[in-house]
Amino acid sequence: MPRGDGTGPLGQGPGTGKGLGRGTGRGRMGGRAAGPGGLCVCPACGEKIEHQAGIPCYEVKCPKCGTNMIRA
Ligand SMILES: [Zn+2]
Repeated sequence: MPRGDGTGPLGQGPGTGKGLGRGTGRGRMGGRAAGPGGLCVCPACGEKIEHQAGIPCYEVKCPKCGTNMIRA
């Protein structure tokens, strides 16, 4: 039973599942960020901006008045 030849260690090296699980999500971020209906609206002044992928509207502040946006 040789040890340390690289065939035995658990949880090391690629192919153990780490990182592979997120591969699906990466494909959606590379291309077009905004699509139909992807809008955030300001509840205070009504300003509408394109929703940015990966950033919830409520974390985006209105460019006009600084109020947190909501999903349109
Ligand atoms: Zn506003």
